[in-house]
Amino acid sequence: MQKKIAVLGSTGSVGAQSLAVCRARGYRVRALTAYSDIKLLERQAREFLPRYVAIGDPSRYSELKTALAGLNIRIGAGSEAVCEAAALQDCDIVVNSIVGIAGLRPTLAALGAGRKLALANKEALIAGGELVMKTARENKTRVYTVDSEHSAIWQCLEAGRRKDVRGVILTASGGPFFGYSAEQLKDVTVEQALRHPNWSMGGKITVDCATLMNKGLEFIEAMWLFDLEPSQIEVVVHRQSIVHSAVDFVDGAVIAQLGVPDMRTAIQYALTYPRRLSLDTKRLSLTDYGSLTFEKPDLDTFICLRTCMQAARQGGLSPCIANGANEMAVSLFRGGWIGFLQIGELVQDTVEHFAGLAPAASLTDIEDADRAAREYVRSKVYAKADKTREIRA
Ligand code: MG
Repeated sequence: MQKKIAVLGSTGSVGAQSLAVCRARGYRVRALTAYSDIKLLERQAREFLPRYVAIGDPSRYSELKTALAGLNIRIGAGSEAVCEAAALQDCDIVVNSIVGIAGLRPTLAALGAGRKLALANKEALIAGGELVMKTARENKTRVYTVDSEHSAIWQCLEAGRRKDVRGVILTASGGPFFGYSAEQLKDVTVEQALRHPNWSMGGKITVDCATLMNKGLEFIEAMWLFDLEPSQIEVVVHRQSIVHSAVDFVDGAVIAQLGVPDMRTAIQYALTYPRRLSLDTKRLSLTDYGSLTFEKPDLDTFICLRTCMQAARQGGLSPCIANGANEMAVSLFRGGWIGFLQIGELVQDTVEHFAGLAPAASLTDIEDADRAAREYVRSKVYAKADKTREIRA
């Protein structure tokens, strides 16, 4: 049977690769959304002819309308329109590859409509994990992860019973600055941070990989997806990105999932589960690699990871605060306002500042906490902005 898919964030890296899987498998694409890339969105819409196309940035509505004129496609704009695409009827799976907390409402909309969700937007789960998983349970649907490490854990979990899991090993590539001291990290440029050794991804997540924030977010993501305690998750740096993660069972057996890095494996698994279908990916030759290495992460230098683990233990809104602070800090770093090391300092400072916040009860609580964290980071940086410029000049 031909599957029917909606792809949110279709012009990003995972979105475009999801469409590649749909193209190869002959799946019908029912809806597409993007934030602002009209050109690519138009090309995708002309190829897949979905019923509905939405642009997140409301000021681009008329541009999109002109671009898709004459096609039998309904058009929407703004965040409500993206949520409408997420909840569209006659759709089997919604792929959410929106970047950042902007993906939270569409995640809840898809699950609220009972859709299966292939989730690449980890920030939704970090900020609102409890609400997201509760919404999935209440609507008798599931969250299928599209994150390579978590897809690996999911695949490994199929080898045993859930109650026989002792813990998981979450692997990290270490990013482009593995082994650097804080002193060496001080002058890292945006361009250097955007070069990842093993994976080709969007800008925000690539910076997150360089700071190891991505692994911190994935630590929290694993807790929600697989109902784990922080003490059950071990982060291990594995430079080659061949072992995508592993599950440690009570009998001492550790089941790992391996492969040449290719996001389409994780995307396709989420779209075809429980089946495995062929994929034209590069095959793994262990002898080509010869050796694989595993090391402990440097938590004193890469404080984003340490802060996320601390936020995970604190629970409540702390992960949401860490995420909001990071989203703002990364955007300020990419804009040239702050240095690389300040990302971690700001995330840590913000989590400590808001440590006493009451747990979230609703979506509004989550969005308020996210806003407060961003505002706190922005005010800290702007207060120092002129001084920083003088020092640099
Ligand atoms: Mg990942």
